[in-house]
Formats: sequence, C-alpha cells, structure tokens
Amino acid sequence: MDEEGPDCGKADFVLLDQVTMEDFMENLKLRFEKGRIYTYIGEVLVSVNPYQELPLYGPEAIAKYQGRELYERPPHLYAVANAAYRAMKRRSRDTCIVISGESGAGKTEASKHIMQYIAAVTNPSQRAEVERVKDVLLKSTCVLEAFGNARTNRNNNSSRFGKYMDINFDFKGDPVGGHIHSYLLEKSRVLKQHVGERNFHAFYQVLRGCEDSQLEDLHLQRNPALYSFTRQGAGLNPLRLQPLDSDERSHHQAVMEAMRVIGFSPEEVDSVRRILAAILHLGNIEFVEMEESGLEQGHVAVAEEVLVDHVAELTATPRESVMRCLLSRTVASGGRELIEKGHTAAEASYARDACAKAVYQRLFEWVVNRINCVMEPRGRDPRRDGKDTVIGVLDIYGFEVFPVNSFEQFCINYCNEKLQQLFIQLILKQEQEEYEREGIAWQSVDYFNNATIVDLVERPHRGVTITDRIFLQSLDTHHRHHAHYTSRQLCPTDKTMEFGRDFRIKHYAGDVTYSVEGFIDKNRDHLFQDFKRLLYNSSDPTLRAMWPDGQQETTGKPGGTPAGWPGGGADAGLPECPMSWQEPFYVRCIKPNEDKVAAKLDEGHCRHQVEYLGLLENVRVRRAGFASRQPYPRFLLRYKMTCEYTWPNHLLGSDRAAASALLEQHGLQGDVAFGHTKLFIRSPQTLVTLEQSRARL
Ligand code: ATP
Ligand code: MG
Repeated sequence: MDEEGPDCGKADFVLLDQVTMEDFMENLKLRFEKGRIYTYIGEVLVSVNPYQELPLYGPEAIAKYQGRELYERPPHLYAVANAAYRAMKRRSRDTCIVISGESGAGKTEASKHIMQYIAAVTNPSQRAEVERVKDVLLKSTCVLEAFGNARTNRNNNSSRFGKYMDINFDFKGDPVGGHIHSYLLEKSRVLKQHVGERNFHAFYQVLRGCEDSQLEDLHLQRNPALYSFTRQGAGLNPLRLQPLDSDERSHHQAVMEAMRVIGFSPEEVDSVRRILAAILHLGNIEFVEMEESGLEQGHVAVAEEVLVDHVAELTATPRESVMRCLLSRTVASGGRELIEKGHTAAEASYARDACAKAVYQRLFEWVVNRINCVMEPRGRDPRRDGKDTVIGVLDIYGFEVFPVNSFEQFCINYCNEKLQQLFIQLILKQEQEEYEREGIAWQSVDYFNNATIVDLVERPHRGVTITDRIFLQSLDTHHRHHAHYTSRQLCPTDKTMEFGRDFRIKHYAGDVTYSVEGFIDKNRDHLFQDFKRLLYNSSDPTLRAMWPDGQQETTGKPGGTPAGWPGGGADAGLPECPMSWQEPFYVRCIKPNEDKVAAKLDEGHCRHQVEYLGLLENVRVRRAGFASRQPYPRFLLRYKMTCEYTWPNHLLGSDRAAASALLEQHGLQGDVAFGHTKLFIRSPQTLVTLEQSRARL
C-alpha cells in the first residue's frame, strides 16, 4: 500500500503479528496518532472519529481512489465506496454499505463522504437529469439533519432517526434516483429533552434564522427560553440554549436553500415554518381546573387563550375547533350516538402532547416523502425497468445507555441488536460456512452470537397488557429462564434495579436496565381522532396532506391493540433484508473519547467498543481466514495477461489449474488456497503484487 510507511502501523488488522486486544489497541492508537483514522479488517473498514478536520477528503483524494482496487491505496471510506460501486457496476448486483457504531462515532459523517464520493465519480457526460438527482441526494442530508438531528450529551449533531438510503443506478452506472427510508424518529424529544440536550435543530433554526418580520407573522420571539418545548434541556442554566457555533442563522439559510434546490415550493416552506411555530405555541398552552363547574365542556380551561388563536391561525383551522379538541374528545355513547366528553387537566395535557408529537412526526415523514417524490427515478425506459441496480447506505443511530433508559433506548438498542446479528450472520458465520463449502481447511473461531437476545425481544407476547406494571410481570413470566433477561423480581438481591419498575437486558454491547414507566403509553401513543380530523380539515393544503387519515369518521376511542413487546412492529424494524444486503460492505465506527475532543484516544472506552463490535473475532476469522476470494474465472479474467500460460487463453484443463500455473509463475502459490470453485488469497500483499504486474504491462 503506497504512502503508508511502516511507522504508521498495519493498514489491515489482519496483518498483526498476533491477534490480541493489546496488539489491536496498540495498532489502532499508533495509527490514530499519525492521523490514520481508517484501518481495514479485510474488506471491513474500521474508522475512528478524529474530531478535527483532516486533509483526507475532497476532489484530489477522490481521484486517488477512483477505479482502484481496495488494497491499492491506504484504507479510506472512498475505497469502500469505490469497491461497492464497482461491485455493483461490474456484476450488476445490488449492494449496500452498513455503517454502525455508537452515538458520536462518526456514522453520519461517513455516510456523507460516501455520497460525495459517488456523486463525484459518476455522470462524466454531465447529463442534466443525473446532475439533478445528485444535487437532490447531496442536499437532502442537510434538510433531514435539520428535522431529524438534535444536540445530545453524546453528540452535538446526533441523528434521532435511522436512515437507509437507496441510490438507483442506470446501466451506465449513473445515479438516476433514490429513496430514503426513515426509522423510529425519536418524537418524544419534541416534548422533553434531558438536561444539556436540545430539541430538533429545526426549531432553533426558525427562531434564530428567520427575519424579524417573519417571526412576527409567526407570533414568535427569538429566545428559545420562552418556549416550553425548546427550553427543557436548559435545566437551570439558560446559557445551555446558546447555539454551539453562533451560526444557526447560516444553517437556517443553508436548509432553506437546500429545500429550494430539492424542489419544495415557497408555499410549502412557509407551511413548514408555520407548523413548527404552531408546535411551539402548542407547547406553551397550559390548562387550569375551574373552581366553578358551570362550564358545559367540563372543568378545564386554557390558561392563555391567545395561544389557541395562534395555533388556529398557523394551522389554518377554526379557533373553536382547536379549543374543542384541546378540552374534550368525541366518544361513542351506547349505540351510534356521539357525545363530547370533557377532559380533566391531565387528560388535556396528555392530548396536547400527543398532538404536538404527532404533528412533528407527520411533518418529518412528509419532508422525507417529499424528497422521495423528487428522487423517484424518472423517465425510465420500460424495457429496462427493474434493471436498475442499487447501492444502499444504512446509517442507524448508535447503541445508547443512560442512567435511566426508557422506551426510546429500548427501540434503538433493539435495532442495533438486529444489525449486529446481521453482521454476525453475514460476515462471521457466512465466512466460516464458505470455507466448509469450498473444502478449505480452517480453524473454527468462537464468536458471540446474539441471536438469543434478538429472539428474546421478538418472542411474541399475548394477553391483555394494560399497565406498565402488568407488562413487566408478563415479561418476568415469559423470560424467567432467559439468560439475557432479568428483573428485580427475578433477582431480589440486585439493588441496582427497582421492584416493579426495572428490567435488564444483556445486550451484545453491555447490560442495560430499562424502566417500564411510560412504555405502554409510548408504544400505544394515542392521538384522538378529533385532532386528526381537525388537521385534515385545515385550509393549508400542505398540512392537510399530512393527515389523510383524518377523513375517517371513527371516534377517538382510546385503547387499540394490547401492547406486546413494544417496537416489534414495522415502525421499529429494519427493512426486511432487501436483496442489496446479500453482499454488504461494513464501516465500523469508533468514538475515541466522551469529551468530543481531537487527538485523544481513551483506551478503556475504545477497548469496550472493539469488544462489543466483535472486531477481534472479525480479525481472527479473517486470518483463519483469507483477505480475498474470487471465483476462478473472475480471477483469470483480471490477471491472465500477466502469465504466458494463461494469455490469451489457457489450455490447462481447468480454470483452477490455470490459476495455479499463473500464481506459480509469480511465486505466490504459498499464499493461497484452492477451493472447489474459488481461489482464496491469504494476504493483501499478494493482490497488490498481482495488481502491480498487471499495471506494468
Ligand atoms: P449519532 O448516532 O449520534 O447520530 P454519529 O455516529 O452519526 O452519531 P456523527 O454525527 O457522524 O456521529 O459525528 C459526530 C461529530 O464528530 C461530527 O459532528 C463531527 O464534528 C465529528 N466527526 C465525525 N467524523 C468526522 C471526520 N471524518 N472528520 C472530522 N470530524 C468528524
Ligand atoms: Mg448520526
């Protein structure tokens, strides 16, 4: 590998003298200190977040990787992007890049570099339609981050949703469309943020970025401390609400510009702003119990009625209807008769919060759909339909453990557990199975298979679960003997859990104690039909479009299906293993320290990540293991010109014999094993040698 001296450590962990944690960490650290944040394990890329701008990216770097083999250049995201692109193009096979790692490890940044690479190397003929698609692909990130990212204690720009982006390529290998799947937006953040954290960026961007006159139209003031939904994370210190860089204004402008380029109309952008403002006003509405119960509606009133005026105006709905939705709900009484039932103050607050969350979630989904419509591959030749190939990029938020973990962490960690399982299946298990199939001698490597944990979560639950407590009891009954499940009930001496509240799951990444408080509500997440109908009848067409289900005439009967394991449904799941997952490329991101600072690699912290990401096992399997494998015909096609016995065609009886002759001529036969259908090459150096002799011709 050029440009990597011996003092930079091993560019591939497979080349370590011994596979121990110490050696692994030493190499990781050495490389990190030299600014080599990328290292391979075979074709898997390990990336350490540098927390500083490194001169590794941009057009020149891209040119260095374009069209090269993975091992020809120092490890880089560009090399992985290039390998995925070439695999897709050469073989017309769908492929995907799975990026994993904990919060703040650099997943989203990695996905952006990958997109930039793909955008840079495609469409040499500058076709207008392809340029348009590339523009939208690149600009969509900025918009999605505004609505789906927030500052957390772990990451100043943390993705609060999972993202799987498909890019469609035509037969020339140019991007002609794309599709974004989003998963599990953490919508509870709209209402509440931990101390030190913020709501989604979009709210602050509107507050700080809009012109004075625009703010006036929205009835807003600049200061986020004035709004319940944007000040939760400030704790006692309003300074916490300050933007991180004083540039929220320019972010706002960038988002506006991106929305324009993508094709949002000015009216749509206005609606989006009004919806955000309405949510902020909604959050400030409080309810008071009335002493006198002379009121028809019940015993509750809105403390500050002007807020209701604002919400009504901004959502283009009648003021009386907004008021009615806030203070009561329609229920069926007896037969078909519908009556209005007044809320208590607690019910009214619950309904308000449910509404705010739902409005934001619909807004987010609408933004995603809107981008998808624009990226829908256009003008396809029907004869080619279905012949597009796809590269998927999966950037899912990382494993999370807090002092108190609730439903949100449960869903996130479950997703990660699933991803880890896919990794195990695809990389470790598949690899070993292939050696067996090909008749190659190898030594079996033990690895921790988390299927048992996934199974724990996915095992269906039956019965009517009404409260959090009963839900916990049912978990206890079902999982009493499960090795990865425990609770205070099952382990009375463990004082780190509370009776009737906590349960603990032994995840692949560590133990996490969850509090069941609020699980059922969050899973059920009930929004009264009255709100849906209200918003569906808005005279703002954009808002209206977000509520197609407001049309139904059903009443707001609370309840719904009893909750099983929350998150088991489609909402929480990953895409049903699409075809592109058959041959994934992996980027494993590591967060070097908890302080978000440059040039500091906290060994304990990294070691833990290396452990739970299963990287050592990965190296062992790989070493046991081969750096590369290729079916004989493909190998010959690429290298036959380097050997007189194989060029232009061989007469050796079998491709296997021909490959053997070729390797012998190069003196490389000691570094390979011959499978039934494939050639297995042990060290990357062998590939480099072959590549070089090919290049010399
Ligand atoms: P989350 O799961 O919370 O979304 P993440 O893994 O997506 O986390 P990123 O948002 O990609 O994390 O990275 C966190 C921060 O680290 C970035 O905002 C950036 O400041 C820094 N960072 C990450 N990767 C790089 C890089 N390659 N070069 C420079 N800085 C980086
Ligand atoms: Mg992210």
